[in-house]
Amino acid sequence: MTELLFLKDSYLKKFDAKVVKVQGSIAYLDKTAFYPRGGGQPCDTGELIQNGRSNRVLEVFWEEGDVAHRLEQPISDGAEISGQIDWGLRYAHMRHHTAVHILSGVMFRDYSAPITGGQIYPDRARVDFDVDEVGDERVREIESKCNQIVDEGRAVTARMVPRSVALEMPELVRTKTGRKLIEQLPQVRLVEIEGFDVQTDGGTHVVNTREVGHIKIKGVENKGKHNKRFELVLPPSGESV
Ligand SMILES: [Zn+2]
Repeated sequence: MTELLFLKDSYLKKFDAKVVKVQGSIAYLDKTAFYPRGGGQPCDTGELIQNGRSNRVLEVFWEEGDVAHRLEQPISDGAEISGQIDWGLRYAHMRHHTAVHILSGVMFRDYSAPITGGQIYPDRARVDFDVDEVGDERVREIESKCNQIVDEGRAVTARMVPRSVALEMPELVRTKTGRKLIEQLPQVRLVEIEGFDVQTDGGTHVVNTREVGHIKIKGVENKGKHNKRFELVLPPSGESV
């Protein structure tokens, strides 16, 4: 099993590791800071550096519980490498991911609307909710509630808890599918926005809501009576940790 460095420190940009398996252009490492696509968050890209030579990491994905890195050039089994993720891209994913949690937290807390899907991009995110009509005025109200959470500078933390503990948290088990998912896992990773929201999650987040910047809801698309698709955008980031 690959050691998942991004779960412990989402700000880790460089790391040393060893290639433990190679299959064609796919390399497996003993540990990695590269995020494999999943949970609506796209994968990282970057490079593996071996003896001063750079090898692009084109794509990263889960393969039977391990993290697969698709490389531009061949690499040999046992190679000692240092990895470097494309930080600008990852940080954009982190900010948008935390923004999605802020929006879904507001929607659940104030409008009893569960999230039904979502996708993060480097420059925007879309989030689907099971909710009835949402007019312009309501959209502005939701936006301002989100930005209050941003401005409060709340801490964002991640921790592992046993399944039994997670199932006892009503705010966590928002949908039937959510409950089913938790029931399959021995341990559940929780991402919490201090005093506001907690969700099961395997992604990478910023450590403070202020890093997200002000959220702009660009539009709400009607995808059916119980399905509204929100699109959000963020200001370009000046700050980076
Ligand atoms: Zn998430």
